Amino acid sequence: MKKLYLILLLMAASGFIFAQSQPYVVLISFDGFRWDYSERGITPNIERLKECGVHAKTLKPCFPSKTFPNHYSIITGMYPENHGIISNNMRDLRTRKEFHLYAREEVKNPDWYKGEAFWETTTKKGIISASYFWPGSEVTDASRRPTYSFKYKHNFPYENRIDTVINWLTLPEDLRPHFIATYFHDTDSYGHQYGPNSPEIDSSIVRLDNIIGYFYRELERINMQDSVNVILVSDHGMTEIYADKIISVGEITSGYHYESIDNGPFLLIEPEENEIDSLFSELKSHEEHFTTYTKSTIPDYYHFSHNDLIFSLILVADPGWTLVDKTESEEWYLDGKGTHGYDNNFLDMHGTFIVNGPHFKNGYKTGTLNNIDIYPLLCEIFNLKIDHKIDGELNNIKFILNNNQKKYE
Ligand code: AMP
Ligand code: ZN
Ligand code: ZN
Repeated sequence: MKKLYLILLLMAASGFIFAQSQPYVVLISFDGFRWDYSERGITPNIERLKECGVHAKTLKPCFPSKTFPNHYSIITGMYPENHGIISNNMRDLRTRKEFHLYAREEVKNPDWYKGEAFWETTTKKGIISASYFWPGSEVTDASRRPTYSFKYKHNFPYENRIDTVINWLTLPEDLRPHFIATYFHDTDSYGHQYGPNSPEIDSSIVRLDNIIGYFYRELERINMQDSVNVILVSDHGMTEIYADKIISVGEITSGYHYESIDNGPFLLIEPEENEIDSLFSELKSHEEHFTTYTKSTIPDYYHFSHNDLIFSLILVADPGWTLVDKTESEEWYLDGKGTHGYDNNFLDMHGTFIVNGPHFKNGYKTGTLNNIDIYPLLCEIFNLKIDHKIDGELNNIKFILNNNQKKYE
């Protein structure tokens, strides 16, 4: 810690930090907060953000509409096929290494994460950043982490996370982060367990709305309510699933030799090389409530092809249906009432985008935005040039900015 302070002090002394003139952005993610959750009349604090800021009808996630791929798309501006986190569960067929959210070592292994997270972009310019649990913020390579970050603790109290954000914002200027990313899992967990139309999910929505209320009260207390730009997003939505809508893939594929990963709304299958075509035909001829694609025939809009971690065959279930391969117990799926991961055009998979602050228009409403366009938006707010290839485009989202904001040098 001492060393970090010394580095920051030296950076400040050399004029490297020009943070005084830099804007503030707090990026808040409510996991699985479907686009319509803020339209249920139970979120007065979020309503206030919408009224004074910009509200997009929906935020379109990337395929697969899962947590890690989409948080990493938001923070890099890239499709999963390009940033490398193609799913929550991955297997590298050459090294046999596996990535799972519970596999701590791999979640921290920087080799899986390609592209450049926004906190790496800010670090290059001497801007201090912080993250409270954003996926990808824990990599072991310190140069690829935010200036301040924490080890993921699922049940760490939400108000304490906000308290830390407020403490960060009140640090002496030469230590203070100007970009802060935070994460709250509540609506995802309750959405899975009880479904998106349950009283339990409504309680969860209210809990998160209260967190927004608490955050703004605290911002007012430190007198920063007018200087902080808040970007409230979610990684994907949620849809109901049913115990009698199970597709038993193993019954169709029996007799074939293959491996698979990621049961649920989609499934990746890698057959032995000489069986790719025949297994594909077999699956096609049994297609009921799902679609089978090969890596080369999957429609372009999925952007799910150009990566070695993507298996040769991709099965996508129809909304509400669950693909279960032979290796999994079907009972496991009967517990849940909701899930996500389906085709990202399916409206239930869309998330939330509400922003508020000096850089944004007031009381402006727009349609669907793409989550990959948030990275170039962040670069524009901080006036940072993008010097590498990304998939997002500033032109798709620029119109939400308040044109009267002066540019920071
Ligand atoms: P899913 O619904 O499967 O797409 O993933 C949601 C889950 O991801 C959450 O319930 C968390 O347990 C987990 N998760 C979220 N952020 C992190 C993180 N930074 N590290 C490890 N697991 C995480
Ligand atoms: Zn999620
Ligand atoms: Zn989830």
